[in-house]
Amino acid sequence: MRTLDVAVVGAGPAGLYAALLLAEEGFDVGVLEEHSVVGVPAHCTGVISDEVSDLFKVPDSLVLNRPSACALVSPSGRTVRIDGGGCASRFCNSPTALTACSERRLPESRS
Ligand SMILES: Cc1cc2nc3c(=O)[nH]c(=O)nc-3n(C[C@H](O)[C@H](O)[C@H](O)COP(=O)(O)OP(=O)(O)OC[C@H]3O[C@@H](n4cnc5c(N)ncnc54)[C@H](O)[C@@H]3O)c2cc1C
Repeated sequence: MRTLDVAVVGAGPAGLYAALLLAEEGFDVGVLEEHSVVGVPAHCTGVISDEVSDLFKVPDSLVLNRPSACALVSPSGRTVRIDGGGCASRFCNSPTALTACSERRLPESRS
């Protein structure tokens, strides 16, 4: 049986990033996810900022589009428009991106 220093519950962006930071500090980290595939079912449309993209090192191959402007529409109909590059400029398939990030950035599991 594998013994871990830390078990992170949930392989969403927060859990994966926490696991990454812990692993970089030398801890033996495992991530426990209730779903069999990371990022599925999707709970993100896939619009991510350049800052988040850089943080998770999302590969360019997963970027589907780089719009020059975005409009965020709340359920109440309120709209926030973001103009200019770099604010919210990447559309990607988020389950695929999350899976790619988790596979690349987390330590290999040992049985
Ligand atoms: C419809 C929708 C669209 C969105 N679109 C965008 C977008 O385009 N861009 C953007 O930046 N953000 C978007 N968001 C917000 C984004 O999805 C969240 O901010 C982000 O997923 C939160 O990350 P998290 O790691 O905190 O939680 P989550 O992503 O919810 O991750 C938590 C994980 O923990 C797992 N889990 C929970 N309980 C347990 C348990 N007991 N045992 C094991 N595993 C467990 C869950 O299965 C899940 O995988 C969207 C959200 C919604 C609802």
